[in-house]
Amino acid sequence: MNADRMLELTMELLEGGMMSGEIKPLYKLYEELSPKETAELIDYTIDNQKMDSWDKQVVYLYLALYSYQIGEYLPDKLYAHLMKETWDSYPEIFLRAAPQVAEMLIDAAQTDEMRDQIIPLLSAVRSEKSAEFLAGTDHRWEDTAGGWCLEKGKIKELYREEVVPFEESPGTEEDGWVPLRRIDRLCGFCRHPLTLIFNQKEPLGSCLVCSCYQTIYTRMEQGEFAWHEQNRKTEILEQCMDRVLDGYPNPERKLKRSKEFRRITYSASIMTDISHTQLGGLPCRFDHLDYPDCPDCGEKMIFAGQIEGQDIWEWGDGMYYFYVCENCNNGACNYDQT
Ligand SMILES: [Zn+2]
Ligand SMILES: [Zn+2]
Repeated sequence: MNADRMLELTMELLEGGMMSGEIKPLYKLYEELSPKETAELIDYTIDNQKMDSWDKQVVYLYLALYSYQIGEYLPDKLYAHLMKETWDSYPEIFLRAAPQVAEMLIDAAQTDEMRDQIIPLLSAVRSEKSAEFLAGTDHRWEDTAGGWCLEKGKIKELYREEVVPFEESPGTEEDGWVPLRRIDRLCGFCRHPLTLIFNQKEPLGSCLVCSCYQTIYTRMEQGEFAWHEQNRKTEILEQCMDRVLDGYPNPERKLKRSKEFRRITYSASIMTDISHTQLGGLPCRFDHLDYPDCPDCGEKMIFAGQIEGQDIWEWGDGMYYFYVCENCNNGACNYDQT
C-alpha cells in the first residue's frame, strides 16, 4: 500500500469511523506495512504540508503501536522530528524509540518547563538513562508509564509478553469463554458478591462497584480469589457508600478468547480502532495509571489484563485494570472512566 493511500485511509477513519470499502480495521493495515512502506510513510507524513500536527500524531501512533516489520524501533529521524515539531506528542509513540532517543530527550530538558514536557515521553523509552533520570524527578505515574519501573536498581517489567485478546461470543466455557460471573465470596466493604472476570493463568476478579472508587486487593485461596484483609476504605468510597450499596446487575455479555496475535503495544492507547479487553501486554491508559503496590511485599504489582465496561454490561463504560503480584499470589483491580 502506498503512503498516500495509507494517509487517506487514516484520515477517513479519523473523520467518519470505519472506512468505506475496506474490510480490515486500520491497525491491521499498519501491521502489514513492509519496512520500506513504513519508512516511506514516516517521510511522507513528516514532509506533508497539508496535514495538521494532530492528524500526523495519529499516523505516528498507529505506526508505533502496530508497524513492526521494520524492527523493534522506529527510525530516530521520526523522534528527532517530533522533538523539533511539538512537545505535545502522544507518549505512546515513544514506546518504539531506541534507547539513544532517551539521551536526545534528556539533552533537551534544559529548563523546568522542558523537563515537565519531556518526562511523559521519556517514561516510554526504556533505557538505563531514562530510568536514572526519572528516579531523580518528582514523578507521580511516569515511573511506570512505559510498563516498567526501577526496582532495587534494576528494570522490572510490569507486564506480560503474551497477549490474549477476547471477542464477543455466545460460546461455552470450553472455547475459552470468559467466565464473567459472580462467585460466593463477598466484598468486604459493600457485601455484594465478587465477580470473576478472567480465569486463564490465574483467576482475576473484583467487586465491580467498589473498584470504581479505589484499588481493591484480592488474594488467592484454594484456586479462587478472595477479599484481601489489607483493603482499607478510602474517604471517597465512604462518601459514596449510598450509591455503592445499590449494587450492580449481573454481567450480561459473553466473551471468548480470540485467535488474533497481538504485541504488547497493540492495546496501549484508547485512540486506535482496536478492542481493548485482553490479558497481558500494556494497559491502555498510558498516563495516570495507578500500578498498585502489593499489600504483602510492597513491590509494584504487574499488569495482568483489562476489560472494557461495555464488555461486561450493555450500558457499561470505562475500563477495569487487573494486576498481580506473582510472589505473593495477590491480585488488585482499579478502574478508569475515560
Ligand atoms: Zn464492594
Ligand atoms: Zn507481593
